[in-house]
Amino acid sequence: MSRVALVTGGTRGIGAAISVALKDAGYQVIANYAGNDEKAKAFAEETGIQVRRWDVSDYQACADGIAEVEATVGPVEVLVNNAGITRDAMFHKMTPQQWNEVIGTNLTGVFNMTHSVWSGMRDRNFGRVITISSINGQKGQMGQANYSAAKAGDLGFTKALAQEGAAKGITVNAVCPGYIATEMVLAVPEKVLNERIIPQIPVGRLGQPEEIARIVVFLASDEAGFITGSTISANGGQFFV
Ligand code: NDP
Repeated sequence: MSRVALVTGGTRGIGAAISVALKDAGYQVIANYAGNDEKAKAFAEETGIQVRRWDVSDYQACADGIAEVEATVGPVEVLVNNAGITRDAMFHKMTPQQWNEVIGTNLTGVFNMTHSVWSGMRDRNFGRVITISSINGQKGQMGQANYSAAKAGDLGFTKALAQEGAAKGITVNAVCPGYIATEMVLAVPEKVLNERIIPQIPVGRLGQPEEIARIVVFLASDEAGFITGSTISANGGQFFV
């Protein structure tokens, strides 16, 4: 029986690439999403991957969602915390709502989801928790105090939880992408991309979602059992920790 992998925000962008790569690697994949039913339906039809809608910032919704998936599909052995949002503003203009929404999805959402699968992983002595953080959680980014704080929080969470999971066969790792060619980044005007963003990337191009997905597939594998508490950067040489 193949392992069950759940990918939050798994119907679009980097998450969709992760869902497909895990499916290709033999996992039974469930792709969660927040509200874009049209995209999720098209993704499910195109890939044959099951989709489930709930908001990761809602603790009870996560607990109920995981309970339903575990009852109908099987125990979640791989959790990929990928769902993320931006609400950018310079700090003097940032509203409490912009702060709370980003922390709620990008950091509390990671707690909510991981908490919902953690006891099961401990009971089965196996688990993989992989969180998609960001280069901007490593270096900070002006206009993104909320996002940088949440993504840096994901890294602290990963290091702490790795220590708790180690004796139980659970690895906890993070991936920090740089600029990846998703809808969010491709919505930036071409002139800005070519004149301001790509020149900051030593390899001279945006990353592809599949390049993040391949890291996740490796971290999920049995062969990666000695890697825990790690942060893997994939940013084209833009930033070294
Ligand atoms: P997209 O905006 O393309 O997709 C986001 C996905 O997350 C969608 O499936 C969306 O669902 C889902 N989502 C958003 N909020 C919630 C929520 N509250 N509950 C459940 N699902 C939710 O994002 P990207 O692919 O660009 O980014 C994926 C991750 O990678 C994010 O964590 C992002 O911060 C991180 N990242 C991205 C980079 C990039 O260059 N693109 C760089 C560094 C990090 P729906 O379709 O229903 O809205």
